[in-house]
Amino acid sequence: MGKGITRRWILNTLCSIVAIVLFAVISLSFAVWTYFYSSVEQTLSGRSVELANILSEFNTDHDSTFAATARDYVENFPDKESMEILVIDSEGNILVNSTGFAPDAALSMPDYETAKTSNTGYAKWVGRLSSGEKVTAVTRIVRNSEGDIICAVRYLTSMSDINKVIFGAIAVFTLVGLIIIGLVIFSGTYFIRSIVKPVQNISDTAKKIAQGDFNAQIDKMYDDEIGDLCDSINDMAKALGASDRMKNDFISSVSHELRTPLTAIKGWAETMQSGNGVPDKETFDKGMDIIVKESTRLTGIVEELLDFSRMQNGQTLLMKEKLDISAELDEVLYMMHDRAQNEGKHLLYDQPDIVAPVSADKNKLKQVFINIIDNALKYTPKEGVVGVQLILDETLVKVIVTDTGCGIAPDDLPRVKDKFFKANQSVRGSGIGLAIADEIVTLHGGNLDIESGIGVGTTVTISLPLCTD
Ligand code: ADP
Repeated sequence: MGKGITRRWILNTLCSIVAIVLFAVISLSFAVWTYFYSSVEQTLSGRSVELANILSEFNTDHDSTFAATARDYVENFPDKESMEILVIDSEGNILVNSTGFAPDAALSMPDYETAKTSNTGYAKWVGRLSSGEKVTAVTRIVRNSEGDIICAVRYLTSMSDINKVIFGAIAVFTLVGLIIIGLVIFSGTYFIRSIVKPVQNISDTAKKIAQGDFNAQIDKMYDDEIGDLCDSINDMAKALGASDRMKNDFISSVSHELRTPLTAIKGWAETMQSGNGVPDKETFDKGMDIIVKESTRLTGIVEELLDFSRMQNGQTLLMKEKLDISAELDEVLYMMHDRAQNEGKHLLYDQPDIVAPVSADKNKLKQVFINIIDNALKYTPKEGVVGVQLILDETLVKVIVTDTGCGIAPDDLPRVKDKFFKANQSVRGSGIGLAIADEIVTLHGGNLDIESGIGVGTTVTISLPLCTD
């Protein structure tokens, strides 16, 4: 993946930057080259105009003072060191040469040849002498008023020094270009590494999480978008770990829940089977009583699990009918009364003289009451009190179940309605009772609120909308 990002960066960014830098270096070099060469030509041309003007005063080069004037000008020319001046007579012979040496017989003067035939009488030549030296030369033809050639002046200068300056400038431009590209590569590599490394970390950790290692955490390297992603994945791993633990606890709780009644049923069945023939009536009655009770409990647990599974699949169907909530609550309390007594707890309920009509699924509603009152009894010690109240509140009917039990810690309170969550692992239960109750109440358009304090007790309020028609 790192290679992918690096390749894309090279293609998208580096290539463009290299192209821009290359273009800039070439353009600047060309501009400098053109500037220097055209300046040299301008200087030579300017100087040639000066001498041409002086010599154009003569009508012909046969004039007795012509050669002397030309020689005089050339000898007094201040820039003799940097440029060479030739005065060529109308026959093409070199009349004056500023270097003082005899001209090279093989000297080729393309500018002179061109200037002779050109309309402007002027030509430029950039080339190499036979010595290999690079030079710029200009020739200006001087004509009299009849248009006849009087002479030609030729200025020539060496380009060696200027070429050195130009190559120096090009070297500087190239160096600056290379430094820019180097900086871009350096900062780009650093930037890519700052993305690729954390992304690789994330990918490695995600693989570990996928393999079930929910303790895997990513080291957050930067406080940026990738840092936020690391935080999210770390939170996700923690949440997955917690839910995995909850799932395992759930499996062990459910297995335990199922094993307890099964052990009792098996034990009593074996007791009744053993001995010599039929057990005595008392043992038989007690045994059968326990077997029936435990089978009912087992059925209840399995029903609850099935309900939960339906709820998870979104298949909870409500068979709604108009019913009096107080009658349903009464039935459940009647059922729970014996249990509370057997456990030595006080289940208090003052049946109010009210009718509270709601549109609800009878069995599901009873399930909610059973789950809530079962919890209240389960988490309340012997001699504790569980109070149930039914009150009407404008458009709502509220069933309030209060207990004097162990209570729920503030940290656990927001999670008790989550599936599989158990604040108290030592007490029997699968951790889905409140999740089911909450889902059913919500499906009926109501609310399930829980208030609790450790050592004080818990109050669960089930609010349902009253049926108006
Ligand atoms: P469980 O089957 O474990 O009772 P529930 O979903 O019914 O599962 O309840 C979730 C958790 O909420 C329980 O494990 C328990 O810790 C806490 N809880 C529920 N009702 C009460 C209560 N009346 N008093 C104290 N704790 C309670």
